[in-house]
Amino acid sequence: MTAAILTIFYAVVTMYPLIASYGLGWPPRHPLDEIASGAGMLALSVILMEFVLSGRYAVISRRVGMDLTMLVHRVFARFAAALLIIHPFLYQSPFAAQRPWDQTRQETILADPTGLVFGISSWLLLGLLIFTAAGRKQTGFSYETWRLTHGVGALLASILAVLHAYWMGRYAGQAPLAIYWFLLAAVAILTMVHGYGLKPIFMRKHPWRIRSVRKAAYKTWELVIEPDGHVGLDYKAGQFAWLSLGKKPLFLFQNPFSISSAPASGSSISFLIKELGDMSCQIGGQVAGQTVYLDGPYGHLKLPSGGFKGVGLIAGGVGLAPLLGILRELRLKKDSSPVKLIYGNRIESQIACIDELHALPPSRSEEIILALSEPPKDWTGHVGMIDQTLIEQSFSFEENQSWIYLICGPGSMIQSVERSLINLGVPSDRILSERFDYD
Ligand SMILES: Cc1cc2nc3c(=O)[nH]c(=O)nc-3n(C[C@H](O)[C@H](O)[C@H](O)COP(=O)(O)OP(=O)(O)OC[C@H]3O[C@@H](n4cnc5c(N)ncnc54)[C@H](O)[C@@H]3O)c2cc1C
Repeated sequence: MTAAILTIFYAVVTMYPLIASYGLGWPPRHPLDEIASGAGMLALSVILMEFVLSGRYAVISRRVGMDLTMLVHRVFARFAAALLIIHPFLYQSPFAAQRPWDQTRQETILADPTGLVFGISSWLLLGLLIFTAAGRKQTGFSYETWRLTHGVGALLASILAVLHAYWMGRYAGQAPLAIYWFLLAAVAILTMVHGYGLKPIFMRKHPWRIRSVRKAAYKTWELVIEPDGHVGLDYKAGQFAWLSLGKKPLFLFQNPFSISSAPASGSSISFLIKELGDMSCQIGGQVAGQTVYLDGPYGHLKLPSGGFKGVGLIAGGVGLAPLLGILRELRLKKDSSPVKLIYGNRIESQIACIDELHALPPSRSEEIILALSEPPKDWTGHVGMIDQTLIEQSFSFEENQSWIYLICGPGSMIQSVERSLINLGVPSDRILSERFDYD
């Protein structure tokens, strides 16, 4: 399934309530009443689909990319919030009990205390969730606490909203729509059961053992793990997986990390992990033999099977991890494609795997360009950030036209590199990137 088909599928599912309501052929009400109902139903279908978007589904992340999926999740949550804000205030007709002569409720908005309580509680809860998600870092909650309250709160608010729509909606309570709401609510519940229950059970049955942990650079560790009693992971170089330390692979305590090893190197998998918060700061203290758990592979940052003449890899800091996996894979497979890696850091001690990067296997056409923004006095590499000038110096016009470019690093760096590549004539479908945070 391509990204275009997924997009069409999403649009059809979310628009269905509007199409089905129109299909009922009922007499129209005041235009603002119709807009209010439409806004409420569209917001509800968008919110229910948010569970699918934020769930971990390789079928989506492989095609669209997890970061883009999460961006869509955030943007659509705000869109739904805007629709929800206007929904109750647009109604013009009077609130009243069902009138026997007005079976299609053309003249009144149904006044039902239970339905209203469902609606108002859901409205307030969803507002709170969207507000705390937008300002997550300011709330002071740990990521895990926020994630739990966000998931459970969203499910509760959605169920209340479905009940409200079913109870009170002029259209939403009719058979084709009622079935749709309950099906979509069931899908939302199943995504939670899948993520919080089934995935951890599967992970527990496929444990991994730590083979080694070593310091790879300043505050950065290389963790190597091997499958413990199973065949391992069927992944492509550049993809990522959710890693769980500890005795049980609880959903809330799984963190995403790019795989820095190459599939061709065997069943062991390695990660480059930078110390950031509670989980990543524990990596250096892990010992060989310890059990860890993995969920993956995910992500679209991987080389396509063909259609390019060379590979440009552009990494910022620990964003080297997936690109190192790709470089290792190309080396191991003795691929003849020329490769250039631009690897930027702030200081020299942050450069990871320097010996390996410079150990060029014979017959390979590779160039490693190191950049430091705060270099030591004897630094011979590029000085400064990875900017358009450096990219222009590093890649020729022909390379810009025919190579594929993969970028990984901080969000701001990715944006600026993407812009530079496009300015230099690289077609946008030849630029792939992965962000390390969804904020
Ligand atoms: C696709 C992807 C690939 C990544 N690859 C690497 C890598 O190869 N090497 C590396 O060092 N870092 C990588 N990261 C970043 C890494 O996941 C975070 O640094 C790590 O999860 C921080 O967790 P913590 O508990 O140490 O810090 P915390 O202080 O708990 O979190 C710091 C920030 O990390 C993010 N984060 C934390 N937990 C999660 C989670 N469970 N799911 C999603 N985001 C979370 C949030 O933005 C949070 O604000 C990657 C992130 C993503 C999304």
